[in-house]
Amino acid sequence: MAKSEKKEKEINVMDLPGVGAATAEKLASAGFDDLLSIAVASIGTLTDAAGVSEAVARKIIQAARDGLDMGFQSGTDMLNKRNKVIKIKSGSENIDNMLSGGFESGAITECFGQYGSGKTQIGHVLAVSCQKDDSEAIAVYIDTENTFRPERITQFAEGFGLDPEKVLGNIKVARAFNSDHQMLLAEKVEDLIKEGNKVKIVIVDSLTAHFRAEFVGRGTLADRQQKLNKHMHVLALLADKHNLCVYVTNQVMAKPDAFFGDPTEAIGGHIVGHNSTFRIYLRRGKKNTRVAKLVDSPNLPDAECIFNVTENRLEDA
Ligand code: ADP
Ligand code: MG
Repeated sequence: MAKSEKKEKEINVMDLPGVGAATAEKLASAGFDDLLSIAVASIGTLTDAAGVSEAVARKIIQAARDGLDMGFQSGTDMLNKRNKVIKIKSGSENIDNMLSGGFESGAITECFGQYGSGKTQIGHVLAVSCQKDDSEAIAVYIDTENTFRPERITQFAEGFGLDPEKVLGNIKVARAFNSDHQMLLAEKVEDLIKEGNKVKIVIVDSLTAHFRAEFVGRGTLADRQQKLNKHMHVLALLADKHNLCVYVTNQVMAKPDAFFGDPTEAIGGHIVGHNSTFRIYLRRGKKNTRVAKLVDSPNLPDAECIFNVTENRLEDA
């Protein structure tokens, strides 16, 4: 990792053949502000983004690939990286044990479930708990449904024995008004980090609501999936590059052809499912409890647990 970072610093976008200041600016405004994003872009996307010919786009992409260390890491390097993983606790031992200690950095964790299943409450808790042993920790909260509530942050901060004012001060909230805005905000997190903010978690609540609403009856599903895919890649890159935790929420829709089992499925299909490292299905249980089910994890068994949302914390039920 250190090696590839070094190499990335040696060459920048402006060093690519055929890229002057104007082209670099066009590329940057389309989200291509580093070698990696250009190296993995298609020729067509680059011609559209920068207004260059196909031949030039091909050269730019090739040079970006050459300039990047896209090589392999040893298993030992990977283990060293795994050892740097931080786990952000929810406060409910049931949930944290299910996740082998908490919500992982370097990964995207998705909670999906119906309205009122507790997705937003978990987002609020994580924005607070990431500050538990780190007074400089910053939480970024991208709020698409206008459900961020500072009052809830205050209550959870009290639950963790933290100073609510300080905790609120370390949460950067942005309301996203549409899917493009949401994508832009995710890209801006990089700037926050460059400015010296120690971002430990990025919360996108909800990941899919705007995409779902905007692409109903217009455009094609493929357009929506492509944008969602790009958005999730930005989030995955943030998680990986800065060892931060990404928490996203997702809704479910009725599955009309389900005769057995749960008649709901997550929005966003394979794109969201495949881009999320951990997937948790949330639903309401008996007596106002919540049931969390880990349905997809690269290193943990599927498991289920029960918790309660209370005024000041998430509690085991
Ligand atoms: P969603 O999955 O739609 O994001 P939420 O995370 O917003 O759902 O969960 C809403 C639920 O959280 C409420 O129905 C309520 O049960 C619980 N809740 C919200 N605020 C409080 C509170 N102050 N005290 C206890 N429970 C709360
Ligand atoms: Mg919500």
